[in-house]
Amino acid sequence: MRRSEPRGPAPPAVASGDPRAEPQWHTLDAKTTAEALGADPTRGLTAETAAERLASGGPNSLAPPPGPSWPSILARQFASALIIVLIVAAAISASIGERADALTILAIVLLNGVLGFVQEWRAERAMAALKSMLSPTTTVRRDGVWISAPAETLVRGDLVRIDTGDRVPADIRLVDVTDLHLDESALTGESLPVAKTSEGVRLDAPLAERESMAWAGTTVVEGRGAGLVVATGPTSQFGRIARLTQDVEDEPTPLQRQLSRLARQLGLASVGVAALVAIVGLVSGLSLLEVFLTGISLAVAVVPEGLPAVVTITLALGLRTMAGRRALLRRLPAAETLGAATVICTDKTGTLTENEMTVREVWLAAGAVEATGAGYDPSGGFVDDRGADAGSRSDLRVALGTGIAAGHASVVQDGGEWRAVGAPTEAALGVAALKAGLEPDERALEREIPFSSDRKRMTVVRTENGVGVAHVKGAPEILFERCTRILDGDVERELTPADRRTLSDATQRLGSAGRRTLALARRRLPEAWHSLGPEDIETDLTLLAIVGILDPPRPEVPEAVARARSAGVTVIMITGDSPATALAIAGDVGIESDTVLTGNETASLDDDALRARLDGRTVFARATPAEKLRIVELLQERGEVVGMTGDGVNDAPALRQADVGIAMGIRGTDVAREAAEIVITDDNFASIVGAVEEGRRQYDNIRKFTRYLLSSNAGEVVAILGNLLLGGPLILLPVQILWMNLVTDGVTALALGLEPAERGIMDRPPRSPRAHILDRHGAGSIVALGVYMGIATILLYRVYGGGAAGGATVAQTLAFTAIVLFEKMNVFNFRSLEAPLNETGWFTNPRLLIAWAAMIGLQVCAVYVPFLQNALHTVPLRALDWLVIAGLAVPIFVVPETIKRVVWRQRTT
Ligand code: ATP
Repeated sequence: MRRSEPRGPAPPAVASGDPRAEPQWHTLDAKTTAEALGADPTRGLTAETAAERLASGGPNSLAPPPGPSWPSILARQFASALIIVLIVAAAISASIGERADALTILAIVLLNGVLGFVQEWRAERAMAALKSMLSPTTTVRRDGVWISAPAETLVRGDLVRIDTGDRVPADIRLVDVTDLHLDESALTGESLPVAKTSEGVRLDAPLAERESMAWAGTTVVEGRGAGLVVATGPTSQFGRIARLTQDVEDEPTPLQRQLSRLARQLGLASVGVAALVAIVGLVSGLSLLEVFLTGISLAVAVVPEGLPAVVTITLALGLRTMAGRRALLRRLPAAETLGAATVICTDKTGTLTENEMTVREVWLAAGAVEATGAGYDPSGGFVDDRGADAGSRSDLRVALGTGIAAGHASVVQDGGEWRAVGAPTEAALGVAALKAGLEPDERALEREIPFSSDRKRMTVVRTENGVGVAHVKGAPEILFERCTRILDGDVERELTPADRRTLSDATQRLGSAGRRTLALARRRLPEAWHSLGPEDIETDLTLLAIVGILDPPRPEVPEAVARARSAGVTVIMITGDSPATALAIAGDVGIESDTVLTGNETASLDDDALRARLDGRTVFARATPAEKLRIVELLQERGEVVGMTGDGVNDAPALRQADVGIAMGIRGTDVAREAAEIVITDDNFASIVGAVEEGRRQYDNIRKFTRYLLSSNAGEVVAILGNLLLGGPLILLPVQILWMNLVTDGVTALALGLEPAERGIMDRPPRSPRAHILDRHGAGSIVALGVYMGIATILLYRVYGGGAAGGATVAQTLAFTAIVLFEKMNVFNFRSLEAPLNETGWFTNPRLLIAWAAMIGLQVCAVYVPFLQNALHTVPLRALDWLVIAGLAVPIFVVPETIKRVVWRQRTT
């Protein structure tokens, strides 16, 4: 939601509804702010104080949009047109003395409502659980330690840190900023990023000009900062005007839209059929009430009432399954789209690789050295090519000194294991420095020009002995262009063309070994450096080293890549890393690429030339977010369904443009997550492929139960209509039809929705996004099954003397029971649409077998339990009758199954 706050006079100082006057936070200095808040601007609050404040002040969230309460969900079950018609029918029946029928109709409506309620309630719970998984976390200082905590737990006085890509979690008085720029458009309507400061600003500054404040709900587009929380949840500026949304959007999926179109068509058809029946009925002398009830029951027979509920619950339970496979859906349709994905564009670092960085090699002009040790454990050292200890070499120490000066990350020991805090690349440099005996750089940071995927470099200026020194690290080729000098042993000298060739060879060699490469450089700045812009600072540099960082491929990725390939999904790697590294890692994980295009090369290709390279054989290196967007668009023009990963702020446009934007849960920024359809909680490519499989399973199952319900309904319509056209009476009573459609079928269909993924689900190509849920083959099988079930029922009815006086009830009971059992037999045809059951496995969906047995048991009750006999107008059947029905039911399964087997065998041989 976008609202703009006029840039007029300052808003009132007192929070609405808050009787205490609030200090004018934006005017205060950091110390006074901290005092006023009872906070410690260095150590943060104690966990105890925070807990007390949370208990008294409430959570940092806006009251959630009131989720549907159980009474409203229950009420919804009875709000459909059909149910209202049925209730009217019951009333009419009662008014003319058919009390038993009226009660039965009401009881069935009630039972159906309760079943629907239970399903919808489960769906709501699954959604709610997902929403809580998607809720944001934030970095807060408690008891002197930075921790990651749910944004909901923030309280006034908390010291929090915000970084590029974060959504600001509460209203914050900034106490420390580094080049911090916020996008405040959500709050003030201002479209340009606003630069922030830690200095107090004038009292009458309007909201949009209070540069010392970071407002909840705005996002960090550049830089970083820290500050004290002054208002949370509903008392924040954003809370007063809007709702922070962290919602799962449950808009209808394309499939649901297709299904509602189908439902509308069936609705129309039912009106037609009902009219036809009315005419035939009236002509053949039925009473008006009979005609009315028959019309209604036919409408019920035509429309698969259970369908919408079954779809909803299948998708909602699917959310949970997806979450179990580490994919959180932010929009319900994503599952389906993912199942249809034809291309997945993936980044490399952290998705295909572990994102566990270890510096392995440091190239120095005076001779490269190798690091020993593993992971983030700082025990280890450096050796040169003769195996001699190189840890004390001055050129190495200078280079690693810049490595730590130019970053923020650190490592901590956590239960015996060393863990990175902050960016893994920077943590790796920190560990390398520790191995050389250097301490973390505590010197004051004067200025930072932050890293971004566009710039691919980062600079920190620190003052050393009164002189400003720029420490720069970044992608080698980018830094080489900016270097004029090189550190060679103890001396700095001019960079010669021969040096440049050596540097490029060294980078190439490291990259080909799959190493991530990073160059380190520095510059002593002139005295007046404060007035220099970023470009002027990052120039005329002295190259210190090239670092080769090991980031091993995730062990499960090669298999996932192979699965994607066999599923007909093209995998395209688009990485910010160097071409050599990109190719090497692509090879390691089994992406069959043999060429690489860098960002510059990509930019020089026209659309047609680039499109020709989007076949998975080319990896894209040194790519920028803008290229990702262009690649998505070109793929989509070609009709591909594209999944695209991303994590940075600038990835948002590509994520939005892709059919399925995939954000990374660990590395991803809030901005990327909010632009994406799905969030992968472990950042792992294998989880994306797992989610594709789950998406396919859900789509398959929806297709299965849709066809099942439709074919069953077709059987009922053929039986009723056929018998009427043959001049016979009503073969099934309205209450019996209601019983079948509203009670026994829905439960079986729901169990069908729980079918596990079919074997080979990832060995077939993606379905066409334009494919209709009911293709010709599907419609054909529905008609064939419907006709058989209908005719078999009419046959039974007639053989048992239906229509003749006295025989009617027996024949009707028989027809009723036959159709129910036929439908139960029919369900096994839809466990797989193609594979025979010996392939699928007979017992792989135990819940279906339970539902099946339970529904048959229920039908036995319908025939033998006196009160159900009364309600459903049945009489007891003999054992022989059951056998006759079973005999007629067998072909319903055996014939299609045999056809499937033959076709299957032909296809597999
Ligand atoms: P991917 O796009 O596959 O995730 P990536 O993480 O290598 O790959 P970027 O984050 O865009 O992509 O990084 C591009 C390059 O920028 C890296 O190869 C490295 O040379 C350099 N780089 C990465 N992180 C930093 C950093 N914190 N400071 C300076 N340079 C960095």
